Amino acid sequence: MLSMMQDWPLRVTSIIDHAAKYHAQRPVIGRSVEGPIVTSSWAEVREKALRLTQALGRLGIKPGDVIGCMAWNTVRHMEVWYGVPGAGAVLHSLNPRLSREQLIYIINHAEDRWIFCDLDVVPVLEGLAGDLPRVAGYVVMTDRAHMPETSLPNAHCYEEIVAAETGDGGWVPVDERAACGICYTSGTTGEPKGVVYGHRSNVLHAMCFVQVDMLGLSCNDVMMPVVPLFHANGWSTGFSAPLAGSGMVLPGRHLDPASLYEMLGHGVTVTAAVPTVWLMLLAHLRENGLKLPDLERVVIGGSSCPRAVIEAFQDDYGVRVLHAWGMTETSPLGTLCSFKPEVRSRGSDGQLDCQLTVGHPPFTVDLAIRDDDGNALPWDGETQGRLQIRGPGVVRRYLKKDEDAADAENWFDTGDAATIDPLGYVRITDRFKDVIKSGGEWISSIEMENFALGHPDVAEAAAVGIPHPKWDERPVLVVVPQPGKQPPADEIIERLKPHFAKWQLPDDVVYVDEIPHTATGKISKLKLRQMLDEMDYRLPDQH
Ligand code: ADP
Repeated sequence: MLSMMQDWPLRVTSIIDHAAKYHAQRPVIGRSVEGPIVTSSWAEVREKALRLTQALGRLGIKPGDVIGCMAWNTVRHMEVWYGVPGAGAVLHSLNPRLSREQLIYIINHAEDRWIFCDLDVVPVLEGLAGDLPRVAGYVVMTDRAHMPETSLPNAHCYEEIVAAETGDGGWVPVDERAACGICYTSGTTGEPKGVVYGHRSNVLHAMCFVQVDMLGLSCNDVMMPVVPLFHANGWSTGFSAPLAGSGMVLPGRHLDPASLYEMLGHGVTVTAAVPTVWLMLLAHLRENGLKLPDLERVVIGGSSCPRAVIEAFQDDYGVRVLHAWGMTETSPLGTLCSFKPEVRSRGSDGQLDCQLTVGHPPFTVDLAIRDDDGNALPWDGETQGRLQIRGPGVVRRYLKKDEDAADAENWFDTGDAATIDPLGYVRITDRFKDVIKSGGEWISSIEMENFALGHPDVAEAAAVGIPHPKWDERPVLVVVPQPGKQPPADEIIERLKPHFAKWQLPDDVVYVDEIPHTATGKISKLKLRQMLDEMDYRLPDQH
């Protein structure tokens, strides 16, 4: 017998419909790129998104078309977040901090048809537009009064195209399995890979993320995503907050501690960012003797969270830390550290130890650890293996790749090394993948090595991440010169400059006679890090 319940497609537009109908006046407050703080509501966000959906139709956008969006966390970005999928189109979030080369690659690879952008990133796109032949036009997310003179071809003003519509056309209905968003990850190899989220995968993921033992989000919360919406599906905050009927505070472009502190003052109860952001905020609070009266929980992920940060939030400010692990490829939540009854009984020290793990998965996430031959390893909290994951919010295949990224049983190898304890708590212990993560953003070591090898006096080069107290890691280039040569560091870095954003460039070049290799002849980053440790190597700003 088949079910006799109703067919109700899981589309992200249903999330904003729900928020606008049942939590209509919940405030959605943001710092606009033009400067002032603006106040909207879920009802207004939906209304503007519906008008945008109609405007996109008028611009010739068809279901399945890809629309780029380079924007900070603002109220308008939330309107675009729903207006684009509402038109059946696919929102491709663009990180303005990527290098010119990376941006051109991903915009062309995803075949973006139109690009929405904030006012202050117009110059970034003006510098790329000549290399983006498929982009038919641009929408600058501002009003007529702030519309800049621009060389962008076919540039429109956001508020004008939205105001020209009634918004009464409704959403364009699409299959719940249709794509609705794309995020690129620069992951392990030089070439960024596109992860394509679906309506259904995003709805299921948000439902699991808001659960009590995960984020525990309610309509009495006010959520502030500091993590950019363009980063790893915006950590799902753009879906989870309206799904739970929470208020939302969008901090805009300025993520310095003083600006964030000001935005926390709008009644924020939950916020989310990488550890680097919190280290800076905590220092600011201490220096200025400030308190966090409304804040209850802070989600920390993207890199491992230092014990001192957890202690400072909890002991000094009474704010509960939720240490989480995830990836662009996993929508992104994989695990989050909340206490099971067995942990509750351990006392405060035992609980703090537990918070150094990244916690346990919600329903819809399944985990495994395996050795290099694919054998399942025991969950004893000690045996380290390759962390693998599967579920409806986990990537099956990257955009335009011929091969699946997951195996026949859907297991996706995360490239992270981890232990799992008998209760299912995951501890991230290392990375098998060869990448550097600084301030929550990726730097491709392979790409850096290849460009450094372009210098004729460089025989071998290896990029490694060196632990840094503020940025988690900073890149350093280790170089073996050609016999009798000594290529100057600035010459090598000059060769990298056209291919990397400024913050991605190595902090130092270290010269060695030999770089350690694995049995199969690959550079052993593990041994290289040990070698630098034995040399008592320090980053230039850590002497
Ligand atoms: P996100 O923004 O969710 O971190 P990315 O795709 O940029 O997504 O990065 C995912 C990778 O970041 C993971 O595979 C892991 O290497 C690292 N990572 C994420 N969270 C943590 C964490 N809590 N502890 C250690 N590493 C983490």
